[in-house]
Amino acid sequence: MITVLRLGHRKNRDKRVTTHCGLVARALGASAFILSGDDDRSVIRSLEKVRRKWGGDFKIEYDANWSAFINNWKKNGGLVVHLTMYGIQLGRSLKELINFDGDMLVVIGAEKVPGSVYRLANYNIAISNQPHSEVAALAIFLDRLFGGKELENTFNNAMISIIPQEKGKRVQFNSYERFNQSVKPYHK
Ligand code: SAM
Repeated sequence: MITVLRLGHRKNRDKRVTTHCGLVARALGASAFILSGDDDRSVIRSLEKVRRKWGGDFKIEYDANWSAFINNWKKNGGLVVHLTMYGIQLGRSLKELINFDGDMLVVIGAEKVPGSVYRLANYNIAISNQPHSEVAALAIFLDRLFGGKELENTFNNAMISIIPQEKGKRVQFNSYERFNQSVKPYHK
């Protein structure tokens, strides 16, 4: 089981990027997303809305105390992988990470990540030693970890799902009533 911990979320700057981190986590095989930093219910609501509509059991929670969360995770035998451009190239540790048979916490930052995170993490992993984005780092990490198999994941209890097409869009309504109830009328 993989949980993603998003550190240092800032309500006024990171809404979109944090939401995208949650979407990538869910779509690419993580089981849970923990938001830390500002307590931003709008991010949690957006992710819950996606889960309701597109299915699966993805867990979304807020936790202000990220250091206690990480310490508890380790106490319970879980592994902590911090994604940072300052870390060791993913290729060097990938086999060990794939072979790890337990719960993994993947930590991603926003702006400045506190030094203690680097010390608490079992692995500080770089997705190249160049600065880019937490969304990209998370996507590449999960994809390498699952070896691409996560792209074929299916999600239970989805209200709608996509029927892949070479051209155009085709959507299947699995529960049209529930879907209609979930769509709020649009007001300007
Ligand atoms: N300067 C910041 C720091 O102190 O780590 C980096 C900020 S960066 C915009 C936000 C997050 O993206 C980082 O905390 C890290 O999780 C992720 N990230 C960015 N580039 C990365 C890379 N090359 N490898 C792994 N993670 C990366």
